[in-house]
Amino acid sequence: MKVGTENDKGPSEAGKRILSAVRRAMGLDHVAWIDSLDDGRFQVQLVESENTQGCLPEGTVTADLGAAAAVVSGDRPMVFIPEGTMPLRTPYSRSPVHLQGAVGIPALGGVVWADRVDGPVSQRECDALVDACALVSAGIENERIALEARGREGYLTQVLEGLRGVLESTSEQACVGQLVEIAAGQTGSEIGLVALKSPHETEAAVVGCYGRDARKLLGKTFEASSGLVDLAMKSGASVPAEFRFSRNMHPVLGPGCDLPVTEGDGILVQPVGSTGVPMGALVLIRGQYGGALVVHGLRTLCDSAALLMYRFRLQGRVERDAMMDGLTGLYNRQAFVRRLGETFAFCKRHGHDLCMLMIDADHFKRVNDEHGHLVGDRVLRFITDTVQRALRESDMAGRYGGEEFCVLLPNTDTEGARLVADRIRETCAASVVPVGEGKIRVTVSIGVSAVSGTMEGPDDLIAAADEALYLAKDGGRNRVVLAAG
Ligand code: GH3
Ligand code: MG
Ligand code: MG
Repeated sequence: MKVGTENDKGPSEAGKRILSAVRRAMGLDHVAWIDSLDDGRFQVQLVESENTQGCLPEGTVTADLGAAAAVVSGDRPMVFIPEGTMPLRTPYSRSPVHLQGAVGIPALGGVVWADRVDGPVSQRECDALVDACALVSAGIENERIALEARGREGYLTQVLEGLRGVLESTSEQACVGQLVEIAAGQTGSEIGLVALKSPHETEAAVVGCYGRDARKLLGKTFEASSGLVDLAMKSGASVPAEFRFSRNMHPVLGPGCDLPVTEGDGILVQPVGSTGVPMGALVLIRGQYGGALVVHGLRTLCDSAALLMYRFRLQGRVERDAMMDGLTGLYNRQAFVRRLGETFAFCKRHGHDLCMLMIDADHFKRVNDEHGHLVGDRVLRFITDTVQRALRESDMAGRYGGEEFCVLLPNTDTEGARLVADRIRETCAASVVPVGEGKIRVTVSIGVSAVSGTMEGPDDLIAAADEALYLAKDGGRNRVVLAAG
């Protein structure tokens, strides 16, 4: 067993003082503390003497304990009475020493040696030395335990600080960034990345990274059905078990997209999410991953990040659902009006054009009455489709009411808006919606309004489009009317 004081150097300062006091009080010539090393050899940790001439310097490693070898193998204190004038080989000296008495005491796998040049060491003195050694050994053991506890406490603090960093994230992206940064930092990894996968797909994407080599992969997608990432997600455990990369293993990410990792590199792939809800994995390369504490800490970080990310996704879905019309997938009235308010203010402030279309299906009640509501719904989806096809990326459509749709056209003047409205009206009028054996024709009327200097708020734009729509209906339907501006 290795004696573990703060810096692995034999007895503590207090221990040294005890041994020194005992040596002086007993009139001993040498007291030496010899540690055993893991490789079966021994190391001189302390030589207490008035005169250390001929003594091995502290730190010397030796395989030869001389007479003290019997103490280690017998694992009990031994009193030595040298025969005649024969010098004795001691564990602390280069050459045999002329002594009249010596004692060896087993201590923490090594040996404490004490001797006297001009007289024997009695059994009573030996007993007292055994007590002193027990005291010093206990001190060392206590220090080792305290050191371990300090290490654990330090790591725990680190994990908790990391957790706080992850839990303070306000978006999934920020959470992934924190996770990879903290995990790579705590393990001294050169490379770190987080890859996430959609639930029913085999493709995953690199969404967070640490280190130059990983940065190149940010945003890349890969087939995650044959790599360590996939393995970790499926097993729900960190891989590989021995934390070393070997060429015989799967690729880390997947074919055609991988990290610069070579034989023997330290590697840890930790799943993010549970086996029930796997989300992806954290990959760390060329860092320190040994020890249950490290793996446990990383698992805690990944699990917490996964829970938070799951919450963000759920929240996002709830928010999206709350904004969307269930039948058409367009913004519902509330969401449309909110976006209209923002866009109206922006365009007013910057003097940009902004137009609005109010679209209403003609005689829609008849469709329902003649074909039923399900067919009516299908026609509403057909109109939605027609509207969406006529729009640009920056335009926005919503379902304003039952069979009324509204469209916002930023950076579009009245003429442009009329063209869009005509296209929608013409497409509807020229199309048929198949219903069982037959088909339905549906036309729409559209009112077009544009933001003008006199308009104070978005309600004015809606009112103007509404008025124009009324005129379109009044004028015979299936037509586009521009609001008076
Ligand atoms: P007009 O040309 O004057 O607009 O006539 P209209 O029949 O379209 O107008 P009206 O407002 O009288 O009728 C609108 C109809 O739209 C009545 C309502 O049943 C129907 N409607 C509203 N929402 C839905 C829906 O979600 N699905 C279906 N199938 N019908 C709906
Ligand atoms: Mg209507
Ligand atoms: Mg109608």
